[in-house]
Order: sequence, then C-alpha cells, then structure tokens
Amino acid sequence: MRILDRHARFSHHRVVGEQKTKINRLTPSPALFDLSPPPPTTRRLADLIRQHRGANSSENPALPNAVHRADDTDYQEVTCRSALNKVQGMPSSWTLNPYRGCTHGCHYCFARRYQSHLELGTGDEFSSIILVKVNFADVLREELAHPAWQPKIIGFGTATDPYQPIEGHYRLTRRSLEALVDHSTPIGLITKGPMVVRDFDLLVELSRKAACTVHMSVPTVDEEAWRALEPGTAHPLQRLRAVRALADAGVEAGVLMAPIVPGLTSQPAKIERTIKAIADHGARFCGGMVMHLEGGTRDHFMRFLSQEFPELAPRVNRLYAGKYAPTAYRKQVQGVMDLLRQRYGLHGGHTRSRPPGPATHIPVPREEGQARFRWRA
Ligand code: SF4
Repeated sequence: MRILDRHARFSHHRVVGEQKTKINRLTPSPALFDLSPPPPTTRRLADLIRQHRGANSSENPALPNAVHRADDTDYQEVTCRSALNKVQGMPSSWTLNPYRGCTHGCHYCFARRYQSHLELGTGDEFSSIILVKVNFADVLREELAHPAWQPKIIGFGTATDPYQPIEGHYRLTRRSLEALVDHSTPIGLITKGPMVVRDFDLLVELSRKAACTVHMSVPTVDEEAWRALEPGTAHPLQRLRAVRALADAGVEAGVLMAPIVPGLTSQPAKIERTIKAIADHGARFCGGMVMHLEGGTRDHFMRFLSQEFPELAPRVNRLYAGKYAPTAYRKQVQGVMDLLRQRYGLHGGHTRSRPPGPATHIPVPREEGQARFRWRA
C-alpha cells in the first residue's frame, strides 16, 4: 500500500512545472486507497527506538513501516517539520539533507556521530538504517516561499549523500532542486554519487538563475584505499567522469579530496595520482583536507582500523590526541597539495556564490540536531 501511495505522489510532482495551477487544485482523496498510517515524525521515531532499546532490524517495532530492500538496508519513511537546517562552523549557514544515514558507508564519515542523537549505532546502523524524509521537498518549497526568506547559499548534502542509491527511487533531491530553481536559491552540493548527472538540467538552470557548485568527493583514486574506506561508493573514476560531464554542461563542478586519511591516502605519490586524475577530468577546482575524528565517528573509525589495519591503528590513535591531526602535520599535507595543484593547473576551490544578505530568521533548537525556523513578524 505504501508503494502505491509513493508512486501516486511522485507522478503528481513530475508534472508540476507544466500544470502547476491546475495540479495544485487537485485535492487527493484521504481514504480510498491509503489505508496505512502516515510515516512517523523523526521525534516519534526516536521515542520508539528509545522505548524498544534499539532499531537493528525491520522486525523491530521501532521501525514501524521500514522496507527492507535488496541492498540489505532498512528504509524507514519519516516526516520532517523543517527542511532547511541552520548550522554553524560550515561554509554555508543553511544545509539540506533529505535522508539520514548513508549506504555509502565511508568509515571516516563525520555524520556517523549524529546517529547517537537517535540512539542508533555509529557502525553498521549508520549505513543499513536509512531515514527517508518523504515530505522533504514539499516542506522546503514552503520554507523558500516564505516572505521572510532571503535566498542565501545552502549546503546540500552535508550530513548524508543526496545521491546515494535510494535517491533513484524517491527523487527527493531532484524535487528539492526543482524548488531551489523556482526560488533562485544558490547552493553548494556535495556528493559521491555519479547519479548527480541525472539532474544536470536543473543544475545548469540553477547556475544560470542563481549559483550552483557541485563538489564531488574523491579522497583518492587509489583502488585499495577506496575499497577499504568507502565500501558502498562508486569507483573514483566514475565519480570523476561525472565531474567532467557536469563541467562540460557548464556547471561549476570540482573535486574535494576529503578527507585525506593519514597512512592510507596521505602518501605524496597517491595524492599526486589523484590530483593528476582530477585535472585530467576537467575539474574546475580541487579542495582537500586531512581527516578529523570526533565522538562516535572516532569510535567507529578506530574499531575499523584495529580490525583491518592493526599495525596502523596505534599510530593514528597517537596522531589524533584531539579531534584534529596536529597543525604541523596538516600544514605538511596542505603544502604537498598546493605544490601538486600548481603543477597540474588546479586551484583550491571555493564556491563563487556568496550569501546576498544577512539572515532574517532566528533558529531555535529542535530534535536530532536540526534547527527549526522561527520567522520574524
Ligand atoms: S558518502 Fe558522504 S555522507 Fe555518505 S558515508 Fe560517505 S562521507 Fe558519509
């Protein structure tokens, strides 16, 4: 029943561009076929997980309507109260993340630690229980249409990959991009998913109407390191081909070599091979930074290292006395990258978009680390 319901919802939105007025007057019947309960809010889900002491399988009543798919992952639909999320300490002060959790399962992913807000594990549960915010694009459209919103650059995909495979089914990212285009809102999008080329039409249009930068994350082209560190991602060269396709279409598309993982991708020869491949694929820029480790991400990463690279684990542990590697180490890696970028004609890369004005809304704390809008009168 949920599947039927989903398909009805998507076909409704595909034609929004052409017949907006007519379609908006169409009020769906509340009862005829949709007999299943609506998805819970994320707060309700967190309560259920707490109550049932975890959510480690689709049989668990804490995931009331999770769909277990062929990729061995449980997809739990939820509803969100807001789509735009106010953040601090990032290049953009607003972010968008239509999913929670990520089947790409990168072992260094800093978003792993956010799972603990829902009392989910930072290990396998991060990559095998995905929350799908089914009303995300509709909520975003409402927020962007609010008279107090002034278009400012938004970071898209900062805590989950907006082009992880399930996006092919839900199309929440595409529908969000449609809303951003309609409201001429600039974005910086980050992904490891070559599926991003599916939406090149919207990305080109957004580039014309506002500004749009795509940061493809390719920490290394070294095959062994890629297999070990990013088990669910597309091959690095496939990601670079997506960068070329976007850049050829006129999108400001480049690469983030992030993170550089000490001992696994930090060797100058590996960095050089990666930067050369990035230049060969026509990237407009190449940024990068050394890994940082914090909270649940640190716990998971050190567990992973101890199992897979036991000889490296104690050295990395020593290097990360705090959440960052020592400044001297980071400067050394940046020095190597600067030199190689120069050699291959690349620059470090900053989005060209700038927020046009000061924020006019006040964020207030809300559950699972998101901020909800409160608008000034
Ligand atoms: S693709 Fe990005 S969000 Fe997904 S696991 Fe990897 S680093 Fe995390």
